[in-house]
Amino acid sequence: MKLGFTPAQEAFRRDCAAWLEAQLSGPFRDIRGVMGQMAALERRMEWEQALGRERFSAIGWPEEYGGRGATLGEQVIFAEEYARAGAPGRVGHMGIELAGPTILTFGTQAQKDRFLLPIARGEEFWCQGYSEPNAGSDLANVRTRAVLVETAAGPKWQVNGQKIWTSLATFAHWSFVVCRTEEGTKGHKGLSYLLVPTRQAGVTIRPIRQMNGEAEFNETFFNDALTDAGNIVGAPGEGWKVAMGTLAFERGVSTLAQQMSFRNELDRLLAAAKANGAAADPGIRLRLAEAYSGLRIMRYSALRMLSNADSGELSGAAYTYKIHWASWRKKLGELVMDVLGPEGEIARGAPYEWPELQGVFFSSRSDTIYGGTNQVQRNLIAERALGLPREPRGA
Ligand SMILES: Cc1cc2nc3c(=O)[nH]c(=O)nc-3n(C[C@H](O)[C@H](O)[C@H](O)COP(=O)(O)OP(=O)(O)OC[C@H]3O[C@@H](n4cnc5c(N)ncnc54)[C@H](O)[C@@H]3O)c2cc1C
Repeated sequence: MKLGFTPAQEAFRRDCAAWLEAQLSGPFRDIRGVMGQMAALERRMEWEQALGRERFSAIGWPEEYGGRGATLGEQVIFAEEYARAGAPGRVGHMGIELAGPTILTFGTQAQKDRFLLPIARGEEFWCQGYSEPNAGSDLANVRTRAVLVETAAGPKWQVNGQKIWTSLATFAHWSFVVCRTEEGTKGHKGLSYLLVPTRQAGVTIRPIRQMNGEAEFNETFFNDALTDAGNIVGAPGEGWKVAMGTLAFERGVSTLAQQMSFRNELDRLLAAAKANGAAADPGIRLRLAEAYSGLRIMRYSALRMLSNADSGELSGAAYTYKIHWASWRKKLGELVMDVLGPEGEIARGAPYEWPELQGVFFSSRSDTIYGGTNQVQRNLIAERALGLPREPRGA
């Protein structure tokens, strides 16, 4: 096991850092540090396009699809430098981290040709149509249905149903939708993975206002929505495997480098604790030190995974990664509020304009839920990493 980066990788790091610095102190300085999911959307879309022009948007993808064919190590280096530079949160991440890798892995040549370049260039944005009011952890319980129909424009999937918690759907062009296409089937069998255009009369997107004031989430209603018969990833009725593939991307590589943004959050918290005297409190000091250690462990876990990942596959250790970082950040959010004390309960402006540190508290509450809850992660560790008997499943 080799922990660390090679001289060539360090040279790549310097190139990335130089480009990011030039952009973020130049044409994109107004969005440096913008993290809110829905903040400065137009400018952040332009930023996605700038990344795309430089092939930094999806650097791990093959060159023909707008990437640089970068190794896993280089991907992490870029993401680390991205966070270190205070570059804005990625509005294109659903396409870059989830839809794109899924299409690359499971899609047909025609799908790769149609969808990948517009994602890498920041021209088309995506959202994830998985969860429903009665299907979250139990995703196989989805009720959204699709049937093949003949239309004047050829055969199409006609989709009906409701999704919920659809992040970033208000500006998305496409959704990847898990739905039932085989009548009479149950559970994992009979589900399909469809790519559905969201800007059509059959799709209604209704924002849900959250406690941090943003409306990142949405309800998505499909009412005779149509998509071309060819916009199915994997075989009809065999979408479960594809859906799980997407989740593996969500829990894996895409999260490896976020520790650099966690480092930024911890640094801000340390500065706040020193400034308001909380750093003198023995209990707070212990928790700050614990947070620092947890972050180092995260870094070495990520490097260990990478060092085993020349094949592009993540090792069994990757199963523990999501629960570790999500639990770590939730504790960090609680520590933020204890460091800030009563000041932490005061918004900067009406109705919910929270300073960045309090934002860590709010957003960290969701980390142990999306991409598979902590309880679901424990089931995965038990069953897949440790080979324990499967938990009882409903009929
Ligand atoms: C910030 C954020 C963004 C999201 N974005 C999207 C998105 O873009 N698209 C999308 O489709 N969804 C999205 N989601 C939804 C997310 O995938 C679900 O919230 C998640 O899968 C959990 O489902 P649920 O909320 O229905 O909770 P439930 O599944 O109802 O779970 C409730 C509780 O029961 C526990 N539980 C459930 N099953 C088990 C079990 N078998 N064993 C032990 N405990 C169990 C859970 O751990 C949890 O504590 C997002 C969620 C968040 C928080």
